[in-house]
Amino acid sequence: MATQHFIDLEKQYGAHNYAPLDVVITKGQGIWVEDVEGNRYMDCLSAYSAVNQGHCHPKIAAAMKEQIDKLTLASRAFRNDQLGLFYKELCELTNSHMVLPMNSGAEAVESAIKAVRKWGYFEKKVPADQAEIIVCENNFHGRTVTIVGFSTEEQYRDGFGPFTPGFKVIPFGDAQALETAITPNTVAFLVEPIQGEAGIIVPPKGYLRDVRRICTEHNIVMITDEIQTGLGRTGKLLAEEHEGVEADLTLIGKALSGGFYPVSAVLSNKAVLGTFQPGDHGSTFGGNPLGVAAARMALKILVEEGMIENAAKMGNYMLSSLGEIDSPYIKEVRGVGLLIGAELHPEAGGARRFCEALMGKGLLCKETHEHVIRFAPPLIVTKNDLDWALERIEDVLLNL
Ligand SMILES: *Cc1c(COP(=O)(O)O)cnc(C)c1O
Repeated sequence: MATQHFIDLEKQYGAHNYAPLDVVITKGQGIWVEDVEGNRYMDCLSAYSAVNQGHCHPKIAAAMKEQIDKLTLASRAFRNDQLGLFYKELCELTNSHMVLPMNSGAEAVESAIKAVRKWGYFEKKVPADQAEIIVCENNFHGRTVTIVGFSTEEQYRDGFGPFTPGFKVIPFGDAQALETAITPNTVAFLVEPIQGEAGIIVPPKGYLRDVRRICTEHNIVMITDEIQTGLGRTGKLLAEEHEGVEADLTLIGKALSGGFYPVSAVLSNKAVLGTFQPGDHGSTFGGNPLGVAAARMALKILVEEGMIENAAKMGNYMLSSLGEIDSPYIKEVRGVGLLIGAELHPEAGGARRFCEALMGKGLLCKETHEHVIRFAPPLIVTKNDLDWALERIEDVLLNL
């Protein structure tokens, strides 16, 4: 009853741009959420990796409550006493030189596109309006017109043109294709270390290292979109660390505030963001003290509470345990850390019905693309929690 009431309201008054599972969540704590009828579920999506720290982490809540009574928004017309501390802490943690704060992930991507274009014209001396940015097939970088314009997902583009020119698409995981696609006008290569929305696609070993070398050799900016893979999700602070590389620009968002507030950032070596002059770019809410206070605490607990190491350990356990499930539906289980996908054979009839069955057993997962179930619980998950989940996952994959 209660559930249907809320669903009806959404259907009647909301834009229908999502097809959510029909569970209406009203509370969350740690890895658990509760629906309006009092049913409890383990969250295995973590809001697309935005709540890596777990739902409503008390320390982030406390930091935000403290800030909310002091100052929420100063705008960048003035300075605020949270921003500089956030920059310093974030730069020290990620070994970056400069930070540009924004709000959504898509805004961080858009900001990076502007930054590399400006860098290309002013530093690399690319002729005006000729800058090219190389991106990958099956990329996901957000939903703005410019970003969907270089998506290869038909539905993301269909009906939304005309699009921003200046992008070239190459296969993901193929460093040779990158080298071949580069021209004198190429300013940047934008890539996800692991493609999340595409279905947890892990590139071949050495790919990011090769990309790093090629970008350096051709003087193009390497941009890693770590909005989903970053901040502990893969068992390292940034997924690029698995290959020991540092991008020139790294984009983070989602878990940067632990799910409390939209906070994203472009991390940069000085050369690239350094081309921005006052007035070149901006955001009313970007770098606001409330979001920044949340982000500072979200970063602090990620490190202090050992969430990154836990993600590595629990991720290995989950990956190997899922791999042992002998179900005829499973084509492949893959992933790094707690970013795991189980790809089902087409004959399984799509991942959605498995997600619905898991929901019936108290586990919230979401299909990504048609045939992949994504498993990405908050990074605070324990072995006991995973055993509880695995029992149910096995049951559904064997008996549905
Ligand atoms: C979620 C996501 C984005 C977009 O972030 P929004 O906050 O939804 O705009 C961009 N890139 C990747 C890899 C993402 O997973």
